[in-house]
Amino acid sequence: MRYGFVIDQDRCIGCHACTVACKDEHKVPVGVFRTWVKYIEKGSFPDTSRHFGVMRCNHCEQAPCIEICPTSALFKRDNGIVDFDNSRCIGCKSCMQACPYDALYIDPETSTAAKCNFCAHRVEANLEPACVVVCPTQAIMTGDLDDPQSCVSRVVATGKVATRKAHKGTQPKLFYVGIEGDLLQPSMMRPEYSSMWADHNPLGDGRPATGGDAADAAPGSARIVYDVPHAAPWGAIPAAYLWTKSIAAGVLIVAAVLLGTGRGGEDEMLLGVVSPTLALLFLSITVVLLIADLKQPWRFYYLITKPNFRSWLVWGTYILMIYGALATAWLACGYFIGSIPGALPIVATIFAIGSACYSAFLFAQAKARDLWQSPVFIWHLLVQALIGGSAILIIAAAALSAGPATILTTARVLLAALAVGLVMILIELTLPAMSEDFRRAADLISRGELNFRFWVGVVLIGTILPLILLGVTLRTGGGAPAAGAAMLALVGLWTFENLWIEAGQAVPLS
Ligand code: SF4
Repeated sequence: MRYGFVIDQDRCIGCHACTVACKDEHKVPVGVFRTWVKYIEKGSFPDTSRHFGVMRCNHCEQAPCIEICPTSALFKRDNGIVDFDNSRCIGCKSCMQACPYDALYIDPETSTAAKCNFCAHRVEANLEPACVVVCPTQAIMTGDLDDPQSCVSRVVATGKVATRKAHKGTQPKLFYVGIEGDLLQPSMMRPEYSSMWADHNPLGDGRPATGGDAADAAPGSARIVYDVPHAAPWGAIPAAYLWTKSIAAGVLIVAAVLLGTGRGGEDEMLLGVVSPTLALLFLSITVVLLIADLKQPWRFYYLITKPNFRSWLVWGTYILMIYGALATAWLACGYFIGSIPGALPIVATIFAIGSACYSAFLFAQAKARDLWQSPVFIWHLLVQALIGGSAILIIAAAALSAGPATILTTARVLLAALAVGLVMILIELTLPAMSEDFRRAADLISRGELNFRFWVGVVLIGTILPLILLGVTLRTGGGAPAAGAAMLALVGLWTFENLWIEAGQAVPLS
């Protein structure tokens, strides 16, 4: 059995009765919606037309929200309904990054994710969902898509139906009849600064809608005249988390390189004690940030006790835990024995690389965000770890007056990582666009409203100036220019993480 919806937009009169009935049935708080009716308008006066689109969870057959949810709070019932159990939800918001349809929100009263659940409690009692019952024009139909005689199957069989974002591979079980094509392509619509009855601010941060502007919209494209807000789920904390994780992972990779090449032999204190201490410090900050960003922080241990092993959030948690144990062992050896056993740096490096790079798989599970699907991202995360690790090690080496061989070798690592990192960023931003939404997000960074922070913060301050200072270091052997380069590189890395998170979420989904 596979329950599905058919919504006939030719019958819909945009009355919002479905929204109100849903709100009443599920006690949905003010400001969030399980289903809503979007209005768009096309043409110029007097030749204008208005079109409605009823938006909600598509009860995907291949639901990315279920895959990414680290605690299996989202699950599929035997009858095909994608439901949720808010007693398991930790409020990580990753489902909101995975859903390409903006179907999920955080309930402000429970601080857990919620969405349309097909009124599963009513379906169990052989009742129709509340929106179906209330719709005055019978525009919403439900039924079993596996039953060829059901009304939904018969409509779908006509072939005159459309689904949203079929290219995402989610296999939606919500089919539209008569929907205006622009409603299926939200990022191509002209963003408006205000709607029929309210200011329109989908980012929820005081700035107007992004993902394009009026001049960038396709000719003749529609205007959004009524919508509901969709604030970006992730803000500064995940960006900070990426930054601290890069440093935590990179510092032991670079320390292992120094130990392996024998370049830091005279700096046992730096490599044996300070490096693992820095790794543990930044790893601890990473974990605190990860927990602080949860809407249900006291449930963080559900990642261990209720794990969904399809989610890279779970795998990331285990990788970070093992890496933390290895860094602790490194510190213990460095402190008590004064040397690091040969195999430890190798194993620690493997888990450091895992700690740095698992985020690429997690971001790939965030199927809604095209920018984060970049195939270069995994390599870029590794380079970011080398930048963060070598930068923090240079600062520590300069503070401890470490030997010139240590500083010069670490400076070379930073110089190479910065140069490769810049090339990777430029490749990512100029890749033949995997999709229109990818191009819009990339353009936002390179020539859109984020471009000043990118060219000044990332390229000039975070890369070119450090490269010049590192050139001076390699010529003179001075630790001060290297430390200055390291600080600037960390500023550039911080700026890039923020831009990446922000731009990835700037393109509208619904
Ligand atoms: Fe619903 Fe979105 Fe999950 Fe699909 S991915 S089942 S639309 S919440």
